[in-house]
Amino acid sequence: MAVPKRRISKTRRDKRRSSHWKLDLPGITKCPKCGEFKLSHRVCKACGIYDGREVIKVEAAK
Ligand SMILES: [Zn+2]
Repeated sequence: MAVPKRRISKTRRDKRRSSHWKLDLPGITKCPKCGEFKLSHRVCKACGIYDGREVIKVEAAK
């Protein structure tokens, strides 16, 4: 079994752990139409726009 040869210093350990936590989800973008935050490659929940055209009907869009 692989066993670490040297103890990793507190600095290196903490740097490694701090590097890959993110405040917001990856792939989150603003909708070009309504400016609402949406997931990229997904239809916008607020206005139903994807790739420049309306894909789904949203009731609030009146
Ligand atoms: Zn939108």
